[in-house]
Amino acid sequence: GLARAHGGRRYRLGVMGGTFDPIHHGHLVAASEVAARFGLDEVVFVPTGVPWQKKGRHVSQAEDRYLMTVIATASNPSFSVSRVDIDRAGDTYTVDTLKDLRRERGNDVDLFFITGADALTQILTWRGAEELFDLAHFIGVSRPGVPLGAKDISHLPAGKVTLLEVPAMAISSTDCRRRVHHGMPIWYLVPDGIVQYINKRGLYSEPDYSEDH
Ligand code: ATP
Ligand code: MG
Repeated sequence: GLARAHGGRRYRLGVMGGTFDPIHHGHLVAASEVAARFGLDEVVFVPTGVPWQKKGRHVSQAEDRYLMTVIATASNPSFSVSRVDIDRAGDTYTVDTLKDLRRERGNDVDLFFITGADALTQILTWRGAEELFDLAHFIGVSRPGVPLGAKDISHLPAGKVTLLEVPAMAISSTDCRRRVHHGMPIWYLVPDGIVQYINKRGLYSEPDYSEDH
């Protein structure tokens, strides 16, 4: 893997989970911003297996989402991609993601789970919520339309959760899929290689994608 802890300092590993259908510049900016602010040594992007929150809509094959994540992150020496979620059978739960990464990377690594501030407020409804805060520090990044102050994190354990504002980027995968479906451009919303990969594989052309999911 990448570098271990330097100078006696513990290795700081950011974990960015997502469906990445497709990965876009909102994800990349958020990871880059959190890495800078929290002094992370690396951010590992973890495409989900079966996103249980997204049942009922068509999700692209795991292998396509994995490859797009690799293409988008390949040029950044601090970014990597993990297959732990797509190689695990069954639904993806964050508690399993963090346990697998902990197992792979060892106990000298501090984990920082990066998630949208909107998702963070639902965190206590996640499976294994009691365990989550022992496994990682949680960083909720604000998305456009989700003002930081409005987020009530008072019910979450003190010192285990930080909210961070990232440069506002009104980019979502849903919007990218809809744009592709309707023949609208996604240039500059996603890395160039992702535009080309989507075209090459013909992603998001099925009728299903014309819907607002
Ligand atoms: P969808 O529209 O299909 O829900 P998405 O754009 O939210 O997709 P996900 O793969 O669901 O993308 O997101 C992975 C993580 O990235 C989530 O924690 C999400 O909150 C966060 N995220 C998504 N878009 C942005 C953005 N523009 N800025 C900051 N964080 C984002
Ligand atoms: Mg989302």
